[in-house]
Amino acid sequence: MTIAKREREENQRTALSLMMSLLGDQAIDTTLFDSDVPPFADVVLRTTWEELAHADCVNRIGEGQYRLTAKGWLAALEVSGAARSGEYLERLGRVLAAMKAHVKGRRDSKVVDLRTLATEANESEGFIFNIIESRASSPGDEGRRGATWFERERGRLVEIPVDFNMEAVDIAAALTLPHLERIQALEERLERVEEERARHHCPYCDAEISGITGQDFPEHHAYVTYERFGCGLLLADGHEEEPCPYGPNWPQLEEFEFIAKENGNLWVCQPNAKTARARRIRVVLGEVGRTKEEAEENARISVGPKIKGQSEPKRAWP
Ligand SMILES: [Zn+2]
Repeated sequence: MTIAKREREENQRTALSLMMSLLGDQAIDTTLFDSDVPPFADVVLRTTWEELAHADCVNRIGEGQYRLTAKGWLAALEVSGAARSGEYLERLGRVLAAMKAHVKGRRDSKVVDLRTLATEANESEGFIFNIIESRASSPGDEGRRGATWFERERGRLVEIPVDFNMEAVDIAAALTLPHLERIQALEERLERVEEERARHHCPYCDAEISGITGQDFPEHHAYVTYERFGCGLLLADGHEEEPCPYGPNWPQLEEFEFIAKENGNLWVCQPNAKTARARRIRVVLGEVGRTKEEAEENARISVGPKIKGQSEPKRAWP
């Protein structure tokens, strides 16, 4: 079965929370996350990274390397609970006060460099970068005006409009209401991604489709589409022709006879199918061992059913 939707969402939340704690006050555009090392390795599923990338919450930079997008940062703030903390509102308040001070008594907007703002607000440049980048300081409704990057000086110069009038509470509101919509849009998007995945992945083990072929059967006036998956599953017009080792139609060990023969210094064990179901799986080669037991054990491993989430049993030899 496919990984349950709830489980996937939980894994996305875990991924976002982990990214948030590693990010701290650094800028999202220069902080990279490596999916292959802790705390992500073995915790965040490969499919979670794909889904977050599909939902524009992360960018893939290189193999196994990701960074948060502005949207991802907002989602991570929400998911990690940081967005609702008093400390976060206080910090926002300090940044906004520093911005406001620049346009007080002026008749035109003012451009300020990020570093100066950071010093004045006593906050990190990264934190302020993320606020401006995510437009958390400019929801653009209810007549509120927020700060933006000046022309092409992204990450360097901030333009503060003369009528800048954001309050920390506006930002909190901006994060919650549109964010709920964002989460909903994300979920709808994920459902579509899931439907798409379902068509291209084995329903039992999630292995990718490796080939689609069609065959014409003129005598039956039929055209059959065959889909082969990485795990060996073969579907003919959606019907299981050959099973997946993780699926319910894979034969049990009792459905084979294991016959080991000595061959020079080694033993070779060939699993022979005893039932119709066992005959549907393709066993080509006998398994080898230094002893009869090793050869039999390897043969049992090669045709035994597999369980999703469990690592493959260790071969007896080599
Ligand atoms: Zn499969």
